[in-house]
Amino acid sequence: MLPDYRPEPFVDFSVKANADAMRTALSKVGDELGRTYPLLIGGEHIELADTFDSLNPAKPSQVVGSFAKATVEHANQAVEVAATAFETWRNVAAEERARYLFRAAAVMRRRKFEFMAWLVYEVSKSWAEADADVAEAIDFMEYYGRQAIKFGGPQPVVAYNGEENELRYIPLGVTVVIPPWNFALAIMVGMTTAAIAAGNTVVLKPASASPAIAAQFVRLLVEEAGLPDGVVNFVPGSGGAMGDALVDHAKTRVIAFTGSKEIGLRIFERSAKLQPGQIWLKRTILEMGGKDGIVVDETADLDAAADAIVASAFGFQGQKCSACSRAIIVESVYDSVLKKVVDRTKKLTMGDPTDPKQHMGAVVDQKAFDKIREYIEIGKSEGRLMLGGETGDAADGYFIPPTIIADIAPEARLSLEEIFGPVLAFIKANDWKHALQIANNTEYGLTGAVFSRSRERLEEARRDFHVGNLYFNRKCTGALVGVQPFGGFNMSGTDSKAGGPDYLLLFTQAKTITDRF
Ligand code: NAP
Repeated sequence: MLPDYRPEPFVDFSVKANADAMRTALSKVGDELGRTYPLLIGGEHIELADTFDSLNPAKPSQVVGSFAKATVEHANQAVEVAATAFETWRNVAAEERARYLFRAAAVMRRRKFEFMAWLVYEVSKSWAEADADVAEAIDFMEYYGRQAIKFGGPQPVVAYNGEENELRYIPLGVTVVIPPWNFALAIMVGMTTAAIAAGNTVVLKPASASPAIAAQFVRLLVEEAGLPDGVVNFVPGSGGAMGDALVDHAKTRVIAFTGSKEIGLRIFERSAKLQPGQIWLKRTILEMGGKDGIVVDETADLDAAADAIVASAFGFQGQKCSACSRAIIVESVYDSVLKKVVDRTKKLTMGDPTDPKQHMGAVVDQKAFDKIREYIEIGKSEGRLMLGGETGDAADGYFIPPTIIADIAPEARLSLEEIFGPVLAFIKANDWKHALQIANNTEYGLTGAVFSRSRERLEEARRDFHVGNLYFNRKCTGALVGVQPFGGFNMSGTDSKAGGPDYLLLFTQAKTITDRF
């Protein structure tokens, strides 16, 4: 009997055995850096002369891994192979498909420190952030395995005399999975395993900043969990160069994407265009950007609010779609909250995250480093720089200190545009109503939080704060699989609920069979 799903507990690194295990894993993975990885298509490893490197953001001269660079031809080949594999995989029973996920989850749990270490090197996660990423990946597999079993059998329909009616969910076909680099393990694992649990086959194109962790996962799935050849195909390469080919292919049935609004909209548009030979409407699952706010009113516990703002704004260098990038504070407590947040932020440490003392590592790459610095300059012209702002030389690591800019107008660029870095805008609201209005004034709608002791206001926010994940009196990051099903409104996405009861259904289609006897 399968135990009920429970989120994976986090590691307590104050326990010496855990800290030792992490150090051992960092040393083991450290010895494995710089290796070359092939494509994997239909079980065949394909090595290529043309490769690209994944770099350690905290030490850009260190190569984490070199990756065969898939071309348009490889993208097409991978979709064809996945289409052939689908003819077998779609008939594998849901319980059996789920078993692969449970097996993969068990292996990852056993090797969790190693997976954390890859995240530390490849995307500069602190130990705690790496732990949360790995725990979420395990959760997705445990959760979707159970969901596959639940939705695998006949579903309830109304009885009708003289007929046997049956409704089943059937898989769709080839799913192109295009993840981001920020939850480099969890989101990639979630989208991949939801698709295969539902009976689809996958072409996985990892984000170019984080192919090494994806390669570790694919290896685990195939070599340790024994997933049959062709069910997951691995094609690292430039999204700009071969993403369109994956999306456009006539045999692509679903595109599961998490990333920026710009690329999400491009996929949405291209996937709607019928290709020669295509006999279905493509389905897209698009989870995109955020510009998330924490609202604090004059009745709130201001210390708790300040703690939450700091944790939500600067955890993983602010590179979470759910990160708080706007603190919307009612005028009468604005100065007080601003001071508390600045004081707390001053205590954050930043540096190479192999060192457990660091709260923050580097931002992911040179492009992110340049973009965030540009926004800091914009912020300086739009508001009052309270903290941070200065960066060192990128050659010494893409480090950007936590930056706070006060007195940002609700319609300013810093208030509305996603920066995706450790930059927090403080926005003053006249009163509660105005604060809620500001909270809703972006094109996004992913997460949000309200700090208030007024039940009436919280009820108003429940109704009118237009975000996918709304939190009261706690931070706006850290959603757990199945506990806070995750997905956005508006430009944050297609209302999909990763880790929620209906997510698996996005990868399937209902089929009703009527048998008249
Ligand atoms: P991104 O630049 O949009 O890239 C996402 C993925 O799309 C990468 O694998 C990228 O490949 C690929 N790609 C690029 N061009 C493509 C094309 N023309 N066709 C198909 N795929 C293409 O986003 P990112 O910088 O990795 O991630 C940050 C963004 O993700 C932020 O906006 C963040 O808010 C969002 N995000 C949202 C959620 C959510 O749940 N809503 C969760 C996490 C992150 P390359 O790497 O090779 O360019």
